Amino acid sequence: MSDLQGQTAIVTGASRGLGYAIAETLSQRGAKVHLIARNQAGVGEAAAKITAATGVATMAWSADVGDAESLSAAFAAIQKDSPSIEILVNNAGITRDGLLMRMKDEDFDEVVRINLRSVFLGTRAILRSMIRQKYGRIINLTSIVGVHGQAGQANYAASKAGIIGFTKSCAKEVASRSITCNAVAPGFINSDMTKVLTEDQKSGILAGIPMGRMGEAYEVAALVGFLASKGAGYLTGQVFSIDGGMGM
Ligand code: NDP
Repeated sequence: MSDLQGQTAIVTGASRGLGYAIAETLSQRGAKVHLIARNQAGVGEAAAKITAATGVATMAWSADVGDAESLSAAFAAIQKDSPSIEILVNNAGITRDGLLMRMKDEDFDEVVRINLRSVFLGTRAILRSMIRQKYGRIINLTSIVGVHGQAGQANYAASKAGIIGFTKSCAKEVASRSITCNAVAPGFINSDMTKVLTEDQKSGILAGIPMGRMGEAYEVAALVGFLASKGAGYLTGQVFSIDGGMGM
């Protein structure tokens, strides 16, 4: 399928995990993808791997998505190379888990900065050009934890719930310009983020998933790929859970 040929996408947190699978999927469908992550070597390697696999030009940028100066420098360079951006996937995210009573100020602030502030900064940076071109697809990675909450993840849950409110507000502001803004809420997906779970934690989680397994990054990428397509033009302000039935 090459339905995204001629389009350009930005994917944050794309050096590994869900972001990498999303970038690869968009590239397989013909989009030129700009990957962002902090580690220059990691994101460079990811872009090179995708280009080699799909034959579509892919570019890598190093930036801290929660830092206004760093992100705007990367976006300015990207827009110099690709003046029109059709797709923005705000995917970068971190966890700093801990029980609320013992949670440090910096662990709360850092998670909100990287997970939520980044979505505001990235979306604001791209919106003017999407409004001008009267087309855009913005997809934000939230989590089922942002919908249901999770003990030990008050900071993460707050940041992901914030993304949902942000997504709906953004969708309302730009719907008349044919720009959609949606959130994807994965359950437990195999990645570096979930590698840290102990076997005990994993078996507890699996017991609550009707499908009895963790999800795979390419399964989330397929959903994001659909939301990024022209065919998803009448879907906006929605939160799409992809969780093996966990939230039912
Ligand atoms: P990973 O930890 O595997 O990858 C995170 C990516 O984000 C890396 O590319 C990392 O690269 C980048 N990143 C982290 N911090 C920054 C930053 N400040 N600036 C730029 N890039 C950054 O995470 P996942 O792939 O598992 O998760 C991706 C998204 O999906 C996150 O938003 C996460 O919250 C969400 N999610 C994941 C779930 C899961 O089960 N895996 C479930 C629900 C939601 P680098 O370190 O080089 O910056």
